[in-house]
Amino acid sequence: MSATNSCLFCRILRGEIPAQIVYETPHVVAFRDIAPQAPYHVVIIPREHVATLNDTRDPGLVGRLAIAAAELAEREGFAAAGYRTVINTNADGGQTVFHLHAHLLAGRKMSWPPG
Ligand code: 5GP
Ligand code: ZN
Repeated sequence: MSATNSCLFCRILRGEIPAQIVYETPHVVAFRDIAPQAPYHVVIIPREHVATLNDTRDPGLVGRLAIAAAELAEREGFAAAGYRTVINTNADGGQTVFHLHAHLLAGRKMSWPPG
């Protein structure tokens, strides 16, 4: 079985698993996180399956995730107050779904350092 057959986020992209999609472009999709860690928490993914940040050197692919976060934050009214974008990578980074994604968290004051 190929990685994309079993990948949870590829399955969401194909509509096999329901998700609350909030943003779509030809390259990027964003949907509400099933276990939100902030009042507003979405996951932003490339339509192309890439497992982790280790597996691409494509500035367009990575950059589009950040730009989608900025556009969503602006659209939802969080840009001025602020928000957090996070890419977790592999075990020590806390990655649990191996389809590259950026988290966008907003709606509360974030603490630093992260856990
Ligand atoms: P990671 O831990 O890999 O950085 O982030 C994976 C995220 O995907 C987690 O925040 C988790 O709550 C979210 N997630 C896991 N399964 C599902 C699902 O089936 N649907 C949605 N919408 N989010 C999910
Ligand atoms: Zn995938």
